[in-house]
Amino acid sequence: MNGLTRREREVLDFDTIKMILDKSKVVHIGMTDGDEPYVVPMNYGYCFVDDKLILYLHGAKRGKKLDIIRKNPKVFVEMECDIQPFEGDVACRYGISYLSLMGKGMAHIVEDVEEKQKALSVLMKTQTEKDFSFDEKMVSVVSVIRIDIAQYTAKFRPMPKKCEE
Ligand SMILES: Cc1cc2nc3c(=O)[nH]c(=O)nc-3n(C[C@H](O)[C@H](O)[C@H](O)COP(=O)(O)OP(=O)(O)OC[C@H]3O[C@@H](n4cnc5c(N)ncnc54)[C@H](O)[C@@H]3O)c2cc1C
Repeated sequence: MNGLTRREREVLDFDTIKMILDKSKVVHIGMTDGDEPYVVPMNYGYCFVDDKLILYLHGAKRGKKLDIIRKNPKVFVEMECDIQPFEGDVACRYGISYLSLMGKGMAHIVEDVEEKQKALSVLMKTQTEKDFSFDEKMVSVVSVIRIDIAQYTAKFRPMPKKCEE
């Protein structure tokens, strides 16, 4: 993991990191299309394999993000949960409390049928907390992207003290 500028806000506790991954539901995937940035919000599933964080995404079999990933698989991801705006006595004391996670990784378009089946089950588990299985036909109509996260940080921005009372 990589340090934050405001270290007191860095989340290192693994259970809290998993809570962010469970609750966020939507990940923003940043890509680079030549010299143009491109960001796509998507639902995801996650798992840890040998302590490495993996995200699975699914979608249509054609589109801009797939075209970009084929050319440049480097991605940056961001997700957040528990967003709670708070007020202050002056404008600069207004803000928002949140938990968030950011990281960089490599995207792979998954072609292997068994891995696609696993990916969709993982995705549905993260999104719904329920177990689903998928046959070959079901996975054949969607594309699946795996993101191997190489490095990530998590952050907690708390409510200011007086707002907690
Ligand atoms: C909360 C949320 C969850 C989503 N979850 C998924 C998911 O799990 N899987 C999935 O495939 N898609 C999901 N989407 C839709 C996703 O954001 C993209 O629209 C979709 O994946 C198509 O992306 P693409 O790069 O193939 O775009 P294309 O269909 O190739 O479209 C290209 C152009 O359309 C415009 N465009 C594309 N997407 C959007 C958008 N979301 N909003 C505005 N303009 C857009 C852009 O200008 C882009 O250049 C979700 C969207 C939201 C808001």
